[in-house]
Amino acid sequence: MKPQYYISTRGDKQLRKSAQAIIMGLAADKGLFVPVEFPQFGKEFPKLADFVGLSYAAVAEMVIKGFFTDFTGEELARCVESAYNDRNFDRQDIVPVRKAGKAYFLELYHGRTAAFKDMALSIHPYLIKTAVGKEGEDKTLVILTATSGDTGKAALAGFADVPGTEIFVFYPGSGVSEIQRRQMVTQEGSNVHVFGIDGNFDDAQTAVKNVFNDNSFSARAAEKNMRFTSANSISIGRLIPQIAYYVYGYVKLLENGGIKDGEKLNICVPTGNFGNILAAYYAKTLGLPVAKLICASNENNVLSDFIRTGVYDAKHRPAATDSSASSNFSVADCPEAGSSQANGEAASDAKTSRDFIVTTSPSMDILISSNLERLLYHLSGNDAGEALRMMTALDIEGRYDAGDTVRERLRENGFVGGFADMKKTHSALAGLWAEERYLIDTHTAVAYAVYLDYLKETEDKTKTLIASTASPYKFAKSIAGVLGLPETENEFGYIDEISGYTGMPVPAPLADIESKPVLHGDVVARSEVGKTIAEVLGLVKQ
Ligand SMILES: *Cc1c(COP(=O)(O)O)cnc(C)c1O
Repeated sequence: MKPQYYISTRGDKQLRKSAQAIIMGLAADKGLFVPVEFPQFGKEFPKLADFVGLSYAAVAEMVIKGFFTDFTGEELARCVESAYNDRNFDRQDIVPVRKAGKAYFLELYHGRTAAFKDMALSIHPYLIKTAVGKEGEDKTLVILTATSGDTGKAALAGFADVPGTEIFVFYPGSGVSEIQRRQMVTQEGSNVHVFGIDGNFDDAQTAVKNVFNDNSFSARAAEKNMRFTSANSISIGRLIPQIAYYVYGYVKLLENGGIKDGEKLNICVPTGNFGNILAAYYAKTLGLPVAKLICASNENNVLSDFIRTGVYDAKHRPAATDSSASSNFSVADCPEAGSSQANGEAASDAKTSRDFIVTTSPSMDILISSNLERLLYHLSGNDAGEALRMMTALDIEGRYDAGDTVRERLRENGFVGGFADMKKTHSALAGLWAEERYLIDTHTAVAYAVYLDYLKETEDKTKTLIASTASPYKFAKSIAGVLGLPETENEFGYIDEISGYTGMPVPAPLADIESKPVLHGDVVARSEVGKTIAEVLGLVKQ
């Protein structure tokens, strides 16, 4: 394999090996690491047809090997086997592909925490540990995580009691489902620290980023022989393993005759922080035959608006009749005010004065998507100056215009954006259940609803793979509502109700959380995230 290196999106020219980039999380200039080159199928990688018949672990190993070339074969094999096995996943095949309704569903939620974050976070701790060993890093790694609900638990499950690490998770005090919250606050482990914050995901992410960006803070940590790193999808240790499931999904469809070799596939992804769909774009960049990359948003549709218009505006919604949408697909009816329920408390930050809307797909309630920076860098021709210009404008003005080149490249690369409000989402979910007896979660339903609109508008005959990102049981209350089941006393009652009604097995990790003791009840002010971390770690003020 040709050696691969990673470089910052913001201009630091220092090339890093993957082990270094994984340990650091964020580049020294606070940019994100991106691969300098993309290995290709039929060149650095075998031809796609040669992947047919391989297990998920084998596909993942091949894909990751192409990117993390400084890891030895044995090291990667050990990481992959420790992650993708039937102890961590409730399916032998790890990621089943199901045809239902008008699409194929890539079920990414069979891991320990019943959401797709397990796909990367079951291997990320092993990658970090191995990288630390390779680089002779002797500092305790402090993993700082902001979560919109699912990353938190997946990171906790991955890092609990891993020697040489401390793991912090900050989740939005309002917004996550009760089941998501319970999964996190019941986490055992001597190195585990979980806090709610008085804000939304953007507030949590900003607070955590501020700690990363505070050099005096890192210096205080270094004095105690500690180093901060990330379990968010800003880490390439998370992003790269996510490419594997798109390759696997394509190969599965080849294998079962769903598609022919070389046939193009659309990929539709319910999007929040832009990590999952970025991995799909990377898969396409490797030569996976992908036609459209459909970015599906809920009412917090800043991303799908960006894909349509090339303007990222966390402050204002563009007019519904925006003509700059040009030929790109867009969902016509905009749920301005009225039906939408604004979270006034969370919308106080000037940067995100576009109403932050609490939806039934909370893991996508995000207005500042960190991974978009990587796409902007690539699409502006690996121009760090451009990426920096846009990120600075976003920081200061809450808005940027990516310009004509990026707009054109978005189109060339097959990006389309659409959004579905809750009504449309719930109706897509209920329709699929009624017609096919196939139950999807509320996030996946956003993608399915957007895809149905896309189909209606374009009559595109290309087969489409939808990233199915969570078990419906994680959002049991919303799902029970959509299915018209009666209210129950608490969130856990809905799990039993849905299982009785649908006969679908309850994922083992959700079955017993009601009875587990709450170990982490604290909620802190968003301004006190740094102070909280310092207190837990015993960092002295300088
Ligand atoms: C995190 C998450 C998403 C959004 O994924 P991104 O990589 O942040 O775009 C969608 N659905 C579920 C269930 C999630 O947990």
